[in-house]
Amino acid sequence: MAGSYDLDEPQFWSPDALDAELRRVALICNGCRLCHNLCPSFPALFGRIDELDPDREAAEGALLREGAPMEEGEAAHALAGVVVSTEDPVARLSGADLGRVVDLCYNCKLCFPICPYVPPHEFALDFPRLMLRAKAVRAAEEGVRLEDKLLGATDLLGSISTKIPGLANWASHHAWSRRLMELTAGIHRDRNLPEWAHETFDAWWEGRQEARGEGSDRPSAEDERPKAVLFSTCYGNYNDPEVPEAAVEVLERNGVRLAAPPMRCCGMPSLDGGDVQQCLEQARENLSRLGPFVRAGYAVVSPNPTCTFMLREEYPALLRTEEARALGAATRDLGEYLFALRRAGKLDASLASAGPVKVAYHVPCHLKVQRVGLRSRDLLELIPGVEVELVDRCCGMDGTWGMKKEFYELSLGVAKRATRQVAELAEECAAAEPPPKLVVVSDCQLAALQLEKTTGRQVAHPIVLLRDAYRAADAARSGGEPGKEE
Ligand code: SF4
Ligand code: SF4
Repeated sequence: MAGSYDLDEPQFWSPDALDAELRRVALICNGCRLCHNLCPSFPALFGRIDELDPDREAAEGALLREGAPMEEGEAAHALAGVVVSTEDPVARLSGADLGRVVDLCYNCKLCFPICPYVPPHEFALDFPRLMLRAKAVRAAEEGVRLEDKLLGATDLLGSISTKIPGLANWASHHAWSRRLMELTAGIHRDRNLPEWAHETFDAWWEGRQEARGEGSDRPSAEDERPKAVLFSTCYGNYNDPEVPEAAVEVLERNGVRLAAPPMRCCGMPSLDGGDVQQCLEQARENLSRLGPFVRAGYAVVSPNPTCTFMLREEYPALLRTEEARALGAATRDLGEYLFALRRAGKLDASLASAGPVKVAYHVPCHLKVQRVGLRSRDLLELIPGVEVELVDRCCGMDGTWGMKKEFYELSLGVAKRATRQVAELAEECAAAEPPPKLVVVSDCQLAALQLEKTTGRQVAHPIVLLRDAYRAADAARSGGEPGKEE
């Protein structure tokens, strides 16, 4: 992590240095307040600073003594006698106040791109990474909490649960097991959980390679085709293999030479829980598996913007090696990669849909902060009959944050604006003639989980819609039903 967020700097792990840095940043933010409505973290900070401001108390007292309501001139007269303190309210923030701000940050990263004080500005402010540092220092002092360990152990949980998917899925829905999960893993009992797959993506890919007489994935230096490694994501592997499988179908259809070796979780859940060591281990292992492909000229493509963000931005910042920087430079979001193929004239445009469709496309925060445009939206607009509306609101899920019992209700509150927009679009569709089918879409499968909870609708990944549009076009050409790739 750059500058004052460098893991190897001894100051990084010092609680006193962290406290000083939190107060320095709080002072700058208090003078700026641009982020006042981005998330629960900033209102908690500014609200507490206002509560602690002695001038504010004095001013409010003066105004109340005069009775309400007052004209502007009368208010100015009442305030003229207020003695202004020179004490900075930020200095009065307690450790608990600052801890609350840290806890309420769900690492969406939205405050970073809008901040005027990020590096190379001399203030070198990076609010999201400061919050991650605070969580890391707390975990180093107090130990990683059991719930953060469990929520970060996605590979372990996934490999066990997908061996017994029937039992694991039953436990996800049963009241007493949910109470147990709440007690041990801190997952709110009402949080909808993803299903465990009966066949993982890794098993599907391996079977497919065997059926095609191809061995395990190795980088090929000779092939003239565009080459990519699919980072299938732990969620795609264990919970929703349809997404990486659809990615394989669409990428191969468009002439991409593909590899999909088994990967570990990108490490974001560990980082969110302050478990930096676990995150580093995951990052190093993924880097060792992806490095040979990157050196052979492969792009690394992921269907989940959070994982893309980790590989692209956080691995180079955490590991600070040439290899990590090369991986970051080779990483592409799936939509971004496919759209680049289109720009190069290499994307098959034979797409079809069954009728008019309105897509409510939710924009994931971690895609926005990569500043690569909204390429999944652009690709969906290529499908005849599809009209896309942006749902550009944070869903409040943000990885594991919205799963935790202490933040679950708050996370549903954050999702209200996105939910309301989907409801308005549903009304518009119902009133239209002919009424288009409304399909809610997000690149982020965890955002999809949240929106399924709050809207009561199924939420699809754009790559699934794109795959279906190719199949529909094939079926129309052959005069049959849309088929399924074997
Ligand atoms: S993070 Fe930056 S933009 Fe946001 S309130 Fe602080 S100084 Fe302002
Ligand atoms: S990263 Fe997101 S949640 Fe955290 S402080 Fe910034 S805007 Fe708020």
